[in-house]
Amino acid sequence: MNLVDIKGIGSKTLNLLNRLNIYTVSDLYEYYPYRYEVLKRSDISSLNQDDKIIIDGYLEENAKIFRYGKKNRMTFRFNTNTNIVNVIIYNRGFLKDKLTLGTPITIIGKYDKIHNTIIASDIKFFILGNTTIIEPIYHETNGITSKRLNEYIINTFDYIENTNFIPDYLIDKYSFQDRKTSIIEMHQPTSTKNYKKALERLKFEEFFEFMYKMNYLKNESKNRIGLERQVNKKAVDEFINNLPFTLTSDQITSVDEIYNDLISKNRMNRLLQGDVGSGKTIVSFIALYINYLSGYEGALMAPTEILAIQHYNNLKNIFKDYNINITLLTGSTKNKKKIYEDLKSGNIDIIVGTVALIQEKIEYKNLGLVITDEQHRFGVLQRKELKNKGITPDVLYMSATPIPRTYALTLYGDMDVSSIKTKPQGRIPVDTFLYKNSDIKEVLTRMYNELKENHQIYVISPLIEDSDEVNIDSLYENLSKAFKNYNIGILHGRMDNKEKDSIMTKFKNNEIQILISTTVIEVGVDVENASMIVIFDAHKFGLSALHQLRGRVGRSSIKSYCILVSDKDSERLNVLLSTNDGYKISEEDFKLRGSGDLLGIRQSGDMEFKLVDIKRDYNILLLAKEEVEYSIKNNLITRELSNKLTQVDNLD
Ligand code: ADP
Ligand code: MG
Repeated sequence: MNLVDIKGIGSKTLNLLNRLNIYTVSDLYEYYPYRYEVLKRSDISSLNQDDKIIIDGYLEENAKIFRYGKKNRMTFRFNTNTNIVNVIIYNRGFLKDKLTLGTPITIIGKYDKIHNTIIASDIKFFILGNTTIIEPIYHETNGITSKRLNEYIINTFDYIENTNFIPDYLIDKYSFQDRKTSIIEMHQPTSTKNYKKALERLKFEEFFEFMYKMNYLKNESKNRIGLERQVNKKAVDEFINNLPFTLTSDQITSVDEIYNDLISKNRMNRLLQGDVGSGKTIVSFIALYINYLSGYEGALMAPTEILAIQHYNNLKNIFKDYNINITLLTGSTKNKKKIYEDLKSGNIDIIVGTVALIQEKIEYKNLGLVITDEQHRFGVLQRKELKNKGITPDVLYMSATPIPRTYALTLYGDMDVSSIKTKPQGRIPVDTFLYKNSDIKEVLTRMYNELKENHQIYVISPLIEDSDEVNIDSLYENLSKAFKNYNIGILHGRMDNKEKDSIMTKFKNNEIQILISTTVIEVGVDVENASMIVIFDAHKFGLSALHQLRGRVGRSSIKSYCILVSDKDSERLNVLLSTNDGYKISEEDFKLRGSGDLLGIRQSGDMEFKLVDIKRDYNILLLAKEEVEYSIKNNLITRELSNKLTQVDNLD
């Protein structure tokens, strides 16, 4: 059954439905209302101008039709037993034959008190009596009203498949109705109580499916045969012992977990999470080394060129006494062709770059490990992309956006997780202050104090150019005047690779003392001697972004400061002043922004929900999780559900 076979849907409507992402009959009946309007029967004398009205009565005189073009307007006088009112209804001329004198009908519409006229939206050919009417309201598209959507959906009811996505025992346990009844109830509610019950069931089902999918993906990658590796453990230990610092115990645990994943014959699908500055990078370098020792090539992907360049330089430095070929490949790299050839022949041991590394038409000889740094949007789709190239490497994701425990379950349900909870020893918490623009003198004094100590400063502005607000160019001009004896550099996303690299290198080597930048330095950038970050128009940034920016300082034992400059009072800035704890901050962030943004952290499509909201419906989620686990253990998952999944997400 196709959409065009549904009564009322022609090719024009089809296009409009497509715009709502409705392509199949089931898409259509699973297009749920976003709210309901509950209408009570009204007593006409108590109504005000333009109030909604539902009223019973009968025709006092025959209806008249006025036609104009393809449209028509029908009018008649209507007896409500207490009053006589005029009724106008548009484009329902086809109802005229049914509207005979004296027929009892119910009219739904809006009451124009001044003209004693009801502008009707609907006519029902039965008396509703005392019941209320619950009208489902849908998101509309230009050209399809909520009302018409509802009509089309009602025409699909015969084709709703009564599939068992949840096991029977749950239907009994929670006294759910069957799927078909529940879906119909959503579109044609019989009472508030009933549609709420239906909603509960469908939400449960959605989470049940989702949690099962997560479980499935996790097991699937676990059970899939990975690479056979022989690793010289001694060499790994030696490398770790030669590092300029001792690993923290969480770093050691993470390395062990990764090592075990890599040498096991199952494929790794692991998330390494830790707050900014917790030291994830070195763990990933060790993973790359283990991978190298076992004879495979590794790829390290960063979200920005600047970060890719930094990783590249750090890798070169840390492996300077080793005979490992490390190569950088980003959008602005010259001589790509040679690099492609070297990758294909396996000449390159470690390739560092942006996400293009797996997207472009690059061929690898023996790609054994892919690491993505701060790359939240790496999901099932990218794994598929790799798979399509015939490569099935181990995968490690790194994220500095700590997910509140409550959400981690959903977002990372399909992965193993290693966490670095404590920062390296000797770190002093960053102190954060808020200044108004009028206090700029004090800000400059604080900056001067840092420069005097031979420390360096980041200055962040949300804008590159703008006539009257703070922007990079005006900052450069003003700071150059204020700090004549210091070198100031500018860094922004539109510069090319070489310029970025040269500026970052100069900053790293303290040839530049003040680096003015946009948020391109938001993630990952690591310069230990920087002890202050000044963020102008701080209210323009999201909470997580501000926390990430603040994480650029306090990365060594130097006392560091974060100066927020803003004239606006904002809850976000207060959160930042009150805590340095990334987990608390992300919890607050989700409170302030809702979980909509949370979903953006994963690849869209990985988790698109029709009905549920992770935050609001969290209890249902927990319940579904528990029942999925029980169902799997007791072999109760329905064939319909497991079939549905293997069709959609099979990565083999
Ligand atoms: P993030 O987790 O934000 O990616 P990085 O990996 O960039 O953090 O580490 C922050 C800084 O801490 C780097 O300069 C790194 O060299 C340093 N570092 C990492 N681990 C340790 C450790 N165990 N002891 C001391 N310094 C460390
Ligand atoms: Mg990092």
